[in-house]
Amino acid sequence: MRSLPYFCRGQVVRGFGRGSKDLGIPTANFPESVVDNLPADISTGIYYGWARVDNGDIHKMVMSIGWNPYYKNTKKSMETHVIHKFKEDFYGQMLSVAMVGYIRPERGFKSLDELIAAIHSDIEEAKTKLDLPEHLKLKEHNFFKTSTANQILNGHRL
Ligand code: ADP
Ligand code: MG
Repeated sequence: MRSLPYFCRGQVVRGFGRGSKDLGIPTANFPESVVDNLPADISTGIYYGWARVDNGDIHKMVMSIGWNPYYKNTKKSMETHVIHKFKEDFYGQMLSVAMVGYIRPERGFKSLDELIAAIHSDIEEAKTKLDLPEHLKLKEHNFFKTSTANQILNGHRL
């Protein structure tokens, strides 16, 4: 995918309340404005990268890009699971992410257990891949040095 690494940020909005948190894997949703700016070559599926809430620490993340059921699957959604235990929810706060690599396409699962196992394996893969020097250095990218103010990245005003 030519567009990777891809950098974007936006205010965390409420998702579909599918109970990701109940599975122990909360996913922070980006608003439509961020999703609509995704380059065409970023396909649906699971990605890994770096994430930061407001001006906090930079953590590893996995992100699912899928079809948004709320819009009858005509629009995409971007859901980020930050690999970190937060003390509180961060709805309304600014989430900055660097999407670094692709793990796998979306797929169906026979059971909830199978889905959870797949996500845990995605998380392990993300953790390992992000330790590669070429990925670690993205934590130092200017994108994470600037504040949450407006700026242009990957050709889009954020
Ligand atoms: P929703 O349907 O509103 O997205 P979730 O059950 O997926 O509900 O929970 C997502 C929310 O949980 C996020 O918007 C964020 O405020 C909070 N949260 C807490 N810890 C994390 C985390 N490690 N990664 C992502 N979101 C988290
Ligand atoms: Mg969610």
